Amino acid sequence: MRKPSRELISQQEAIEAVKAVYGELENRPVERDCIRRTECCQFKLTGKTPYLTAGEALVTAAALQQSGVNKLPAKEDGSCPLLKPETGRCIAYEDRPFSCRTHFCVAAGGPYSRKEVQDLIWRLEDLDTRLGGVGAQTLPAALKEALPKVTMRKGGPTAQIHSKAAPRARGR
Ligand code: SF4
Repeated sequence: MRKPSRELISQQEAIEAVKAVYGELENRPVERDCIRRTECCQFKLTGKTPYLTAGEALVTAAALQQSGVNKLPAKEDGSCPLLKPETGRCIAYEDRPFSCRTHFCVAAGGPYSRKEVQDLIWRLEDLDTRLGGVGAQTLPAALKEALPKVTMRKGGPTAQIHSKAAPRARGR
């Protein structure tokens, strides 16, 4: 039976653990071919918005800060705030969330089935709990919360213990 850890974890440890999950996903023998069509980044058109756990949000927020983005860009067209209008590219593609890596568009081979990645989802959920999170949130909400927490110092984001957050309603 699955027994999630509730031991608190630092931001830096969580970032490393989430990146390890992404690394394992890359090595799964599931054929998908994202050619960055960015169709799945058009939230209004698809009617779907990625949900991020707290650790995923830290990874993407750290990448944004490293590229000089400290505030989520406003978007009027209903696309992802990380989709750059000038280039049509994701600002944080290498550090994009798990959903962006698994909910592929049809042209790229379609989404992963849950059973193919269930163990990785559990690890991300456990990390969320250990960061004091309350479960996955929409990409804009998760990043708005994570950006101020990720403080850049020489050598990367500082390791800070995240205090237990007040419970909020889940929106998945
Ligand atoms: S984070 Fe990047 S890959 Fe994911 S929806 Fe936004 S622009 Fe697309």
